[in-house]
Amino acid sequence: TEISNLTVAVRVRPLNAQECSLAKVTNVVRVCGNELTVSAGMTADCTAGLTHSFTYDHIFDSTDPDNEFYANQDDVFVGTSMPLIDRAFQGYNACLFAYGQTGSGKSYSMMGIEALDDDASGNSIPHPDAGIIPRFCRELFKRLENMKHSIRAEIEISYFEIYNEKIHDLLCVANSENNCSVGSVHVASTPTSTSVTNRPALKVREHPIWGPYVVDLSIHPVDSYEAMRNWLAVGNSQRATAATGMNDKSSRSHSIFNIVLNLTEISHDLSKNKSEETGTRQTRRSRISLVDLAGSERISMVGSNGDRIREGVSINKSLLTLGKVIAALADSKKNTVNGSVFVPYRESVLTWLLRENLGGNSKTVMLATISPANINIDETLATLRYACQARTIVNRVKVNESPHD
Ligand code: ADP
Ligand code: MG
Repeated sequence: TEISNLTVAVRVRPLNAQECSLAKVTNVVRVCGNELTVSAGMTADCTAGLTHSFTYDHIFDSTDPDNEFYANQDDVFVGTSMPLIDRAFQGYNACLFAYGQTGSGKSYSMMGIEALDDDASGNSIPHPDAGIIPRFCRELFKRLENMKHSIRAEIEISYFEIYNEKIHDLLCVANSENNCSVGSVHVASTPTSTSVTNRPALKVREHPIWGPYVVDLSIHPVDSYEAMRNWLAVGNSQRATAATGMNDKSSRSHSIFNIVLNLTEISHDLSKNKSEETGTRQTRRSRISLVDLAGSERISMVGSNGDRIREGVSINKSLLTLGKVIAALADSKKNTVNGSVFVPYRESVLTWLLRENLGGNSKTVMLATISPANINIDETLATLRYACQARTIVNRVKVNESPHD
């Protein structure tokens, strides 16, 4: 039985203030249910042009808050991530990755403004601008709280970025010896502007059971939403600090936030001491990856600066390989007769690490973000076509279950 475990969602951001101020900028994207159309030839003199139509699993129209179908941060979170949380609690792996050109709303969707849900009171509703990641963490602990008498949970997180095909830990607070000292979040020294990328890059290796993983990545147990939120703040500040003065590095790096959820059922035998846990226990383990990809625009301008050249090359490598992997997987579905198509997962760090999430054992959502502006139409169409191709991939999933002794 083939059920598609890779679904594709598209989000359209509003025109920004700068675009609105330019008379020649118009909105060329229309959304109607699960169909999205782009009017390519619509010009100021209303010359009719080509219209491109696309169908996706979800379309979030965030162009106009006054529109009755306007999608806010919570709508995007509920539509993309609630099904992933459901599956994660059943013991499946889950992944959500945001793909799109720089400025199209990837980080706004994944993290939100100021990157944090800053509601100090803890238990109430999320900040309206909080993105998927803080909402995801909040929902996880809300559910765990509701099942705390029947499920024991262990949660571990890690957060890293891939820049120039090199992996940098965002939660490893560096000291002068380049060691990773994991102390209190609050007394962490502020990293210098180059500390993240000056540290030796981490390597990917293959675990016989769990698949590809990052060697020596710092892993942090968390037992509350607040703890998770504090780690996110550490990672985001490391990302932001390192980006300063580096050709807007954030648009050239991929960030990956991982959550590992281990759930053990507790069966209470009421005939015995109530506090004693008895019976057969099963541990379900799921790995959740929430990914904010580098900007998908082609890096065509190569400056005189050597770093910039290398940046261009490796961005192409990771995103081109992602494209190749998606194309190969889409192709292998069409070629069901002779089946085996080579999928070049190991040609880039990104695709190697996301192997299980692409064509493997995972429920995966691709969130493609686009601009509605006519001036971005080429990138928008490229993103929409890429998203269409991804939609034909079929993942096969199984529960990660292991008996407990
Ligand atoms: P990317 O990460 O894809 O480069 P950003 O998420 O940083 O893009 O978005 C670019 C700008 O547009 C930011 O100022 C962001 O706040 C704004 N923005 C993006 N999406 C939305 C949206 N759906 N609603 C309101 N503002 C948005
Ligand atoms: Mg961004």
